[in-house]
Amino acid sequence: MNKIYRYCLDTKSDDPKCIIRNYLQERKIKYSDKYLLVFEISDSAPYFNDVINFMNAKLKDEPQIRCEYSKKELAEAKYLDIWLKKYSGYPQPDDVDDIKDSYLNYTFDMTNYCTECGNGLVQKDSFYLKKSFNIEKIRFGGVYWIYDTFFITTELRDLFIKEKFTGIEFIPVKNIKTKQIVDNIVQLKINAIFPEKLKFDTKEVINCKSCNTIKKLKKNDSEIFAPKDILKDLDKDFYLSKEFTGGGLLCCQYVLISNRVYKFFVDNKIKNINAEPIKFI
Ligand SMILES: [Zn+2]
Repeated sequence: MNKIYRYCLDTKSDDPKCIIRNYLQERKIKYSDKYLLVFEISDSAPYFNDVINFMNAKLKDEPQIRCEYSKKELAEAKYLDIWLKKYSGYPQPDDVDDIKDSYLNYTFDMTNYCTECGNGLVQKDSFYLKKSFNIEKIRFGGVYWIYDTFFITTELRDLFIKEKFTGIEFIPVKNIKTKQIVDNIVQLKINAIFPEKLKFDTKEVINCKSCNTIKKLKKNDSEIFAPKDILKDLDKDFYLSKEFTGGGLLCCQYVLISNRVYKFFVDNKIKNINAEPIKFI
C-alpha cells in the first residue's frame, strides 16, 4: 500500500512566480496547471520527503492523502470495502424540501426516520429513477445520497445468480414518469450485516442527540481493520457495516464484498468500483 499525496493549488495566487512548478519540473514530477496547479506524489517516490518539506514551507493547507493498493493486495484481500467511481443522478423525486413528495416517502417507511441525522429509513417500495439513468455500459451503478445501494443490469443480475452470491436480493426499479417497473435494471439490496465493528481512523464522529445514532466518517488515508477471529464465520459475499457514515442527513453503511465477488468484478470488467482491502488482525 502506498499513500498518495494530492496537491491542488490556485495557480495564480499560490505559485505566481512559478517557483513550485520549476521545483517540480527539476524533479520530473508531472503536474497540470490550467486553472489549478494539481500534482500527486506517492510516499514511495524519489524526492518524496523533500517535496513534502518544500510544500509544507510554502503552504498552510494540507494535501489530500489517499491509500493506493497494488493489484496483488486487492486480489489477495479476503474482504474489501467498495464504493462507486461514478454516480448517475439522484433517487426520484429528488426535491427533498417537501419530504412527503420526495424519494424518502416514495421508497421508505419513515416511521422511525430521524430528521436530525437521517437514520431509521426502512425500504418499503422500489426506488424510482429517471429514464436518463443508463447503466447499460457500466452495468454496475448508483445514485447520489444512497451510497450503500447499487443498481445493476438484469444481465449482471443473472450472472450474480449463477455465481450464487449471498447476502443480497434483487428488487425491481420503477420509472418515475410511468411508475412502471424498468425491465433492464434491478436494485442490488444488501441484507447481511458484518458481524463486528470495523476499525479505522476517523476524521469526524457525529453523535446524534436526537436518536443516539453514531456516524463515523473515515479518514481518506486510513486503512480498515477487522478482528481476525471472525474470518472463519464470514459466509456472505456482500455485507453492510454495522457502522453508519455520512454528513448531515446522509446515513449510509460501508459496503463489503468477498474476494470471490472482487475477482468476479475483475474478470467481468466491472470498472465502476473503487476497492480497498479490509485488514484482518
Ligand atoms: Zn438521529
